[in-house]
Amino acid sequence: MNADWIYLDNNATTAPSPEEVQVMADTLLTCWANASSSHAAGQQAKQVLMKARGQVAALMGCKPAEVVFTSGATEANHMVLRGLQRMAPSNERRALVISSAEHAGHQKLARELAQSLPVRWIALQADGSLNPADAEAQMGADVAVLSVMAANNETGALMPLRELAEMAHRHGALLHVDATQLIGKLPFHFGESGADMVSLSAHKFHGPKGVGALIIKQGLSWPVLFVGSQERARRGGTENLPGIVGMGVAAEACKRTAEAWAAHAAHLATLRDTLEQGLLARLPGTHVFSGSLPAGQRLPNTSYLRFGHVHADAVLHKLDRLGVMASSGSACSSGGNEPPPVLLAMGVPGDEALCAIRLTLSGATTAADIASVLERLPPELAPLMQADGSTATAPPSPSSPSTTGVFA
Ligand code: PMP
Repeated sequence: MNADWIYLDNNATTAPSPEEVQVMADTLLTCWANASSSHAAGQQAKQVLMKARGQVAALMGCKPAEVVFTSGATEANHMVLRGLQRMAPSNERRALVISSAEHAGHQKLARELAQSLPVRWIALQADGSLNPADAEAQMGADVAVLSVMAANNETGALMPLRELAEMAHRHGALLHVDATQLIGKLPFHFGESGADMVSLSAHKFHGPKGVGALIIKQGLSWPVLFVGSQERARRGGTENLPGIVGMGVAAEACKRTAEAWAAHAAHLATLRDTLEQGLLARLPGTHVFSGSLPAGQRLPNTSYLRFGHVHADAVLHKLDRLGVMASSGSACSSGGNEPPPVLLAMGVPGDEALCAIRLTLSGATTAADIASVLERLPPELAPLMQADGSTATAPPSPSSPSTTGVFA
């Protein structure tokens, strides 16, 4: 990563801390025994594993025994859906209700599952939010799991978890929450959330890649994806100890931030709003997806925009030349020419959805980064917007903010 790059792709992944990398390197070099071995070196590794489990549990507000380490949120999500698939076909409760906001990989798997069990989808509102009544309309005596993400990776829209938990349980179903994008940005407490299973991925909160967890409520016995003896027989395979240790260090750092959540979230939201308002003012015709949601219903770090009808690839090309790292949406689905499914689910026309650019901040983003983007990006984009008719006039001075966009 070049020092002069401005990194605004924190929903794709985040930077690890030097302390965490050091602890991981130490683990690789000095604590490489198998945590399942009964000899002293194995027991030393087991202690290290237990410490990390405690750190992750403290961040998530769950019991250490409820943490099942995985290779990331993708695997955690697979544990939930594949587990459902493995339930006996004769089981009367084996239907899945899932939101149309879910991560692309999760949706893909749900569509595959639909070949062997009932899968019903919850529609989204035009602003990216989810109405609990729309979820309830899909419930029934056959539903085993309601699967809804805590926060959307592209729009940043927050989902009404408390209402959904209460509603799912009233219908005798379990609630699975993909909290991957919420952890590290806003507080979460497993015990208080009402969720039965929660997926998370370390690299979204400054931990390493390739490690995550599924939190499974104590007492819930769920079909296993990888059979084996590790993780209390809930996830077989030798533990990725360096990764898990890195996740523990990141979780502890995140928990420290959590002690000042309100300030952290307010700091992110202030920078994000400065960025959005600045772009709206300088580039009329800019639109913020989910921008009409109240502040309390958006991730504080996420801005999802389109600049008139300028294709995302053209905007990304300009951003790249300016050394600003951004994306046109989920890193897992970018690179194709398909409109982001979440925008289509919100009723955004396909041609507009293809213009979406995601700018996402972290605690490492500075006011100077935002000022630099606001100074250098508009002159690059204004001619493109004028050329495609997105703006009829030259951009006004930044002192006369546009009222369209965020509230449109
Ligand atoms: N769920 C959500 C909401 C995500 O944003 C992501 C990563 N983009 C995942 C799941 C998958 O995480 P991972 O690739 O780390 O397994």
